[in-house]
Amino acid sequence: MREIGHFIGGKHVAGTSGRTSNVYNPATGEVQATVALASVEELRAAVANAKAAQPKWAATNPQRRARVFFKFVELLNQNMDELAVLLSSEHGKTVEDSKGDIIRGLEVCEFVCGIPHLQKGEFTEGAGPSIDMYSIRQPVGVGAGITPFNFPGMIPMWMFAPAIACGNAFILKPSERDPSLPIRLAELMIEAGLPAGILNVVNGDKAAVDAILTDPDIAAVSFVGSTPIARYVYGTAAMNGKRAQCFGGAKNHMIIMPDADMDQAVNALMGAGYGSAGERCMAVSVAVPVGEDTANRLVEKLVPKIESLRIGPYTDDKADMGPLVTKDAYNRVNGLIDRGVEEGAKLVVDGRGFKLQGYEDGYFVGGTLFDHVKPDMDIYKTEIFGPVLSVVRAKNYEDALELPMKHEYGNGVAIYTRDGDAARDFASRINIGMIGVNVPIPVPLAYHSFGGWKASSFGDLNQHGTDSIKFWTRTKTITARWPSGIKDGAEFVMPTMK
Ligand code: NAD
Repeated sequence: MREIGHFIGGKHVAGTSGRTSNVYNPATGEVQATVALASVEELRAAVANAKAAQPKWAATNPQRRARVFFKFVELLNQNMDELAVLLSSEHGKTVEDSKGDIIRGLEVCEFVCGIPHLQKGEFTEGAGPSIDMYSIRQPVGVGAGITPFNFPGMIPMWMFAPAIACGNAFILKPSERDPSLPIRLAELMIEAGLPAGILNVVNGDKAAVDAILTDPDIAAVSFVGSTPIARYVYGTAAMNGKRAQCFGGAKNHMIIMPDADMDQAVNALMGAGYGSAGERCMAVSVAVPVGEDTANRLVEKLVPKIESLRIGPYTDDKADMGPLVTKDAYNRVNGLIDRGVEEGAKLVVDGRGFKLQGYEDGYFVGGTLFDHVKPDMDIYKTEIFGPVLSVVRAKNYEDALELPMKHEYGNGVAIYTRDGDAARDFASRINIGMIGVNVPIPVPLAYHSFGGWKASSFGDLNQHGTDSIKFWTRTKTITARWPSGIKDGAEFVMPTMK
């Protein structure tokens, strides 16, 4: 059995805690490896190693730091096929989808190649008599990232790319479900010229996370995962004096106005609802057609497409989607479909009991569609995180707008319409972080920032974009006077601009 350990000081290090977790092939249900779960002592050792390496890296000029990322991007592109297969083998998503996962992270690495410009400070000449004032952005020291299973390429890179480019050392605690790709990324960073110790990968579970949250040498924590854990990490990090940005779950709606191009909307819903088996924080899980006629047309067009979804293992290059990540996820999603039926939603396409020949023990759930879902149902309130789309019929635009407005989560939302006025009104009034206008999954590009509102995000700075440079640096402001002549006496009144 393959054993996945940690990656510390530029080397693979075996786990010593005696605790491990299984890593499955989700298509077959077989255990393909075990991953070490770090103890507090192992985490502390990784932090000590990072802390020792960090000052020299911070003192490396920003152009040289950028060059590591230029080279890393080149290595990612050269190794893309191998990396995508490695990701898919533990996550279960299709290889093409895994490439998208890696490329979205790669784009953040491209963005931070601009670190010499991004990290420049501010300067005011003559802020007072013989006084200059300037602000610089210094790295926080050692930062940490705790990441979810669903994007094991993109999300670690969202975090470590800006953190490291800014001159920090970084401790990555990836998801224990698919830990191999994050370790491979750390190896490639070393190959790209990163000094040992600047990117340490420590595998683990709650024990490792708690050790991060209480470590006195970790200054900042970035978290992406489910909302209850995001809330916990945010509160605990803050109590321990760390800055934190924590991103949680989602329930993303797509409003379909009567004037929408229905074919375009249906195709968008198929990709956004069922791609990656619905295991995306920006997946669309609620469709809100406005008016009965729109709803009927929508459901009629969706059904045959859902029924003909091609579901397969990652080795099937024609598959639209793969299995869920674990048996727990499989049981949970099936249980929620049962719940929807009990609650009285109309199950139009039932993905329960889907079996693939030769993969009977895989965690496959077929594409599922509920119609006539109501806002008080559990299947509406809960993030299902599976290939299950709910149709909530709205009478008019205001009713449709109210649904995502009142929902606990506020990650993403989309509107399909040909009416610019409706789209503009929607984008202006909605209380959600990322809005798509005729775009189903509005994930901002690397040079903008990613983040939801409400229970989808805790903290005030988003992932990537200029927000990330602010998050991973501290501002220091220097007021300097170089007197041009000899000055007599001290001033005892509060200095003001004269
Ligand atoms: P998760 O919350 O179970 O795990 C996330 C991380 O937290 C993992 O590294 C895990 O080891 C750790 N963890 C788990 N339980 C913990 C505990 N009790 N105490 C401390 N740490 C713990 O999430 P997941 O299942 O890996 O990922 C899916 C979730 O992530 C979904 O809710 C999805 O919406 C969300 N997500 C959000 C975004 C976003 O940007 N908002 C992006 C991707 C995924």
